[in-house]
Amino acid sequence: MTHDAITCKRLILEYLVDYEDGAMPEDVRRDLEWHLEHCPPCLVFLKEYRATGRTLRMLKPKDVPKNLAEAVWGFVISRCRKEE
Ligand SMILES: [Zn+2]
Repeated sequence: MTHDAITCKRLILEYLVDYEDGAMPEDVRRDLEWHLEHCPPCLVFLKEYRATGRTLRMLKPKDVPKNLAEAVWGFVISRCRKEE
């Protein structure tokens, strides 16, 4: 699995909600976890997503995940770029 931003973004946006819901098939989950272990930006994203997601879920139980994922992803990417 490659670690370019487009691959990572698609992976995160398509799979993270299922992953967090525990609805993900075991083999896909292993792939995602492997990727997270080897891809620091994605790991940061997951942490930010969890921190933010928990807060937002308390306010608004539904309709958060995709928009939230996009927003947090943008934040993580811009921060990673600054550190380069
Ligand atoms: Zn990644």
